Amino acid sequence: MLIKGARPYGEGEPVDLLIADGVIAEIGAPDPPAGAEVLDAAGQVLLPGLVDLHTHLREPGREDAETIATGSAAAALGGFTAVFAMANTSPVADNQVIVEHVWRRGREVGLVDVHPVGAVTVGLAGEKLAELGTMAGSAAGVRMFSDDGHCVADPLIMRRALEYSTALNAVIAQHAEEPALTVGAQAHEGERAARLGYTGWPASAEEAIVARDCLLAERAMARLHVCHVSSAGTVDVLEWARPRADGRLSAEVTPHHLLLTDERLATYDPVNKVNPPLRTDADVRRMRTALAEGVLDCVATDHAPHAAQDKDCEWAAAKPGMLGLQTALSIVVRTMVEPGLLDWRGLARVMSERPAEIAGLPDQGRPIEAGEPANLVLVDPAAEWTVRGAELASLAANTPYEDMRLPAAVTATLLRGRITARAGRII
Ligand SMILES: [Zn+2]
Repeated sequence: MLIKGARPYGEGEPVDLLIADGVIAEIGAPDPPAGAEVLDAAGQVLLPGLVDLHTHLREPGREDAETIATGSAAAALGGFTAVFAMANTSPVADNQVIVEHVWRRGREVGLVDVHPVGAVTVGLAGEKLAELGTMAGSAAGVRMFSDDGHCVADPLIMRRALEYSTALNAVIAQHAEEPALTVGAQAHEGERAARLGYTGWPASAEEAIVARDCLLAERAMARLHVCHVSSAGTVDVLEWARPRADGRLSAEVTPHHLLLTDERLATYDPVNKVNPPLRTDADVRRMRTALAEGVLDCVATDHAPHAAQDKDCEWAAAKPGMLGLQTALSIVVRTMVEPGLLDWRGLARVMSERPAEIAGLPDQGRPIEAGEPANLVLVDPAAEWTVRGAELASLAANTPYEDMRLPAAVTATLLRGRITARAGRII
């Protein structure tokens, strides 16, 4: 296949790339074999395929909200070539059977590499370590463990998980939420929640766990990844901890925490309910600068599909979470590229290269060079589109961006040289 006239990282003159046997065979003015398929890129931006460290695919157990097939389609359409599927399924991915099932099903669907995240504790109950070693040694080769949805709140369990993970060359990804501080919490603890009578989710519940975990990980010389940072105070903690961690500390931010604030509470629409909650304008501004400066390493979607009955209800009864896979790139363009905080190379760093490094994926987030795997995404930077939840590939439709006009569109995604999505359609 010949990709014609693409601009790698949005830089320099357009070039042609020859893709053969799943790799980039040649860049420049290659002489394609007769009959080669031509993908006309006409000055579009070419990036390494996006990597999402945090998605909820809901299979097994909630196939009415999402399946590995529909979630993979959403990922490919969003420009992703690898996603990490969180363990809070039903049954929980806390053992070899479930992680291998998720991994195999992802390969059968074949639209994106699906890497199961293993649970840290049995049943996400926070009481007893799951069999991390068995999951690491399984066909799925699990290298990331998380109880996401729940915090590993017991410091002794967290310490043991961190210590054990070092022998497995794995990373522990923490959903940082001190549960004693968030009983019944509905929204960011502040003026807006108080006015509406919602129980608050204080930023300190996140900051306290991140500070504790940074200390535990430092002593254990273990790798810690902080999920969905939402508070400016957490950035302060990470700034302090990072130089002490010798490269073993990483953190992610979601697209919604880069764009939306708790002003959305005034809508009473549970589509805006998410955990951690939408916070203040000052927090959003700090997330953006921290991502630009590298204090936050990467963007992860926390794609969280929910069936209609779990969202079309009163705020207190609604489940937290929002769709993210198909809108992530456009939200990062709006919040980071348009204001000049990141260029396209910077976007490739936070949405592909760093997440691939954190997860230890050897074939993702690679440079666009001859001989490298052809995991790629083409983006039309001049395109604009309107979000319609019903038109997204996910089974669920709980997008907080309904009717929003967004910049930049994925025009093609390639997984090992095969087109998985093109012009908004799965191939
Ligand atoms: Zn979480």
